[in-house]
Amino acid sequence: MQDYEKLYNSLRTEYETYQKFSEQHIQELNEKNVKLEKSIDSLSNIIEVSKYINTFFSSDNLISMINDMILGILGVTYSTIFLIENGELTIKASNIEEMNINLTSKEFTYINQGEEFLINSKEPLKQTGEHKVDIHSIMGSPIKVREKFIGYIIVEHNLYKFMTTELKLFLRSIANQIAIAIENSLLYKELEQLNQKDSLLGIYNRKYFYERIERKEINNENDKFAIVMIDIDNFKKINDTYGHQFGDKVLINTANIVKNGIDKNDIFARYGGEEFILYISDFTNEDVVYNKIESIRRTLEKSQVYFNGESKYVTASFGVSFFPLNGTDLNELINKADDLLYKAKKTGKNRVLSGNIFKI
Ligand code: GH3
Ligand code: MG
Ligand code: MG
Repeated sequence: MQDYEKLYNSLRTEYETYQKFSEQHIQELNEKNVKLEKSIDSLSNIIEVSKYINTFFSSDNLISMINDMILGILGVTYSTIFLIENGELTIKASNIEEMNINLTSKEFTYINQGEEFLINSKEPLKQTGEHKVDIHSIMGSPIKVREKFIGYIIVEHNLYKFMTTELKLFLRSIANQIAIAIENSLLYKELEQLNQKDSLLGIYNRKYFYERIERKEINNENDKFAIVMIDIDNFKKINDTYGHQFGDKVLINTANIVKNGIDKNDIFARYGGEEFILYISDFTNEDVVYNKIESIRRTLEKSQVYFNGESKYVTASFGVSFFPLNGTDLNELINKADDLLYKAKKTGKNRVLSGNIFKI
């Protein structure tokens, strides 16, 4: 009997130890689960952030939208995004009233060093905004593109200990996303520029020219403009005699001379091969345009092209048409200018034929 009791007691102790152990284990597992859920939650937030940024990365408002998103997801009282512009840290977005941003010397130090920080203080760290809200919790994260410091995010809260290490990690990941978005949008702009320009001459291409002109609303009879078609004379012969590289130099020289002879608002593009197109607006009368083009023709005529010890004078022919005098839409005006150019070629080349003088 005693033996049984002994055995019973020892089994019971063993069972209780086991039970305690498993309860503790379950508790630990539960805690782990909560942590895991939290990180899944912040992971899905990060994915959301990344999706959001990628959707809007070409938007001019991207930075303001990201700032609003930080406020929404982190639940902070204030958020401000700075970016370096012309070598200076500039406020790009903030919900602080009147953008009245007041940085403490501590914040300045961290920003200047491009380091992240997290400060919680029972005593107010500073007062922010029009309503002088006491701030007890501040956190900052640098925005870096391949180790290059390009900006900074600062978030503030009125509650003590609102900022945590987890939030700091989250802010860091947003800063990374912003850095990627900024880099993408710079690349995008570069690519857009490349798509607009002729690679040999650095002037606009035909596609961009059409897009630009089509964007202008041509419906007001008072909006006068001219279209000029330009074609280099005897270019095939130049290519055949001096070689293709010399021909390229002729193209570059011609494009530069036209560029120097036009005004800021004129649009100049390569139309194809050795042909160029020019859009001219803001002129008082047709003669002004004629004189401008005639002056370009003369400059070109007097300029020699040098390449590999060879030199050559090169000329071009020009056809000019006017809106609304010679046509009411772009294609009609291009055709008219082309007809005049053809006529200039037929009548000796190195000439400007203008639609206000030569009727076709
Ligand atoms: P015209 O005086 O009547 O205008 O005669 P042209 O020889 O200038 O005209 P044509 O249209 O017969 O010849 C154009 C030549 O331009 C043919 C082509 O080989 C050459 N070309 C087109 N694009 C380029 C280029 O990017 N570089 C060089 N070097 N040649 C080009
Ligand atoms: Mg041609
Ligand atoms: Mg030609």
